[in-house]
Amino acid sequence: MPKNLFPLDNTKKFTNQKLVGHNRWHPDIPAAVHIKPGEVFRADCREWFDGAIKNDDSAEDMRHCPLPGVHVLSGPFHVEGAEPGDLLIVDILDIDACHDEDSGPFAGMGWGYSGVFASKNGGSFLTERFPDAYKVIWDFRGDVATSRHVPEVAYVGIHHPGLMGTAPSHDLLAKWTKRETDLIATDPHRVPPLALPPLPDSAILGSLKGADFDRVAREGARTAPPRENGGNQDIKNLTAGSRIFYPVFVPGAKLSFGDLHFSQGDGEITFCGAIEMGGYMDLHVDLIKNGMSIYGLKENAMFIPGRCDPQYSEWLAFSGVSVDGKGKQHYLDSWLAYANACHHAIDYLMKFGYSDVQAYMILGTAPVEGRLSGVVDIPNACSTIYIPTEIFQFDVRPSKAGKPHQVKQGLAVPRSAN
Ligand code: ZN
Repeated sequence: MPKNLFPLDNTKKFTNQKLVGHNRWHPDIPAAVHIKPGEVFRADCREWFDGAIKNDDSAEDMRHCPLPGVHVLSGPFHVEGAEPGDLLIVDILDIDACHDEDSGPFAGMGWGYSGVFASKNGGSFLTERFPDAYKVIWDFRGDVATSRHVPEVAYVGIHHPGLMGTAPSHDLLAKWTKRETDLIATDPHRVPPLALPPLPDSAILGSLKGADFDRVAREGARTAPPRENGGNQDIKNLTAGSRIFYPVFVPGAKLSFGDLHFSQGDGEITFCGAIEMGGYMDLHVDLIKNGMSIYGLKENAMFIPGRCDPQYSEWLAFSGVSVDGKGKQHYLDSWLAYANACHHAIDYLMKFGYSDVQAYMILGTAPVEGRLSGVVDIPNACSTIYIPTEIFQFDVRPSKAGKPHQVKQGLAVPRSAN
């Protein structure tokens, strides 16, 4: 087992750990750990809400979820010799929900959760249809997830980090803040908001103290969106075996990561839409000097996906086009088309006895594939969502008999009114 350079104990708050990570992006957050190119190491990650979500049958915690405190990230890791313009190579060697319990405190809980945020506290992809808060608890047995809140499905998860990236430079951070606050200014009172401006409330900034802490808390970028540094990309295919190439913007690169997911469908559509878990990753890092100009990579990470995806081979796919619920035609809007594909899939699954939110949770958490099937056939974009049929413990395909199997309901999905 590689040396654990960032150990976390799931019985303690993030700020009471031996090493304190961070939950904002800023170049002045001091490195917590120094590593060398070529090094292999382990790091623990807390689940993104730092223990606020409980393994119970109430959605009150999801309704009041502490969004200003996310995401609790492990890092920054200073990579010796990394300079702006380099490419940082990160290999994900392993990723799992917990260590062997005999080896001492560990970061995971051995279970996970997914949620829908209320429209007034974050919302979700289909927030008009699902304005309330919901929560589903998932149990892990090896790599398989099942839930007492969603009957007759079981699937092999696709473990990945929701969030990983390098620190921005001061210039890049200023660019982010400007463009995002400009967007907010176009509709400042929108619910949910268009973007999340810097927020000192609940900022965790590693070992920073005093006036520096106050300044960085005022300036630091929130971790919710993906940006040029990678960040919260929520790419389900960053499984073990993946190699990711991150642009380096500051000396030492300052790599950070967290928000581990046991499984997730493309789009993470319920917002807290993956199966969120604590756990660990084993990583290997290296550098390509001047890699950004050598490979023409001005912005954004690129990656070679891993080879540890679950082996599902048969799919039931649903399509949608860019016409909204009022019948209005939109021009090549793939986002709207994907929402329609999801609505179609939910309506279909409800014919098998699932509630609307159970179907929504399946699309958010199972290893479903989302595709931009057509982006040129004016005026309609066509987006599709592919659901693996083998995750259902019955035949989910339409048949000539025309009698959909009815799932046996147990516990209802916990819900809390908006
Ligand atoms: Zn997540």
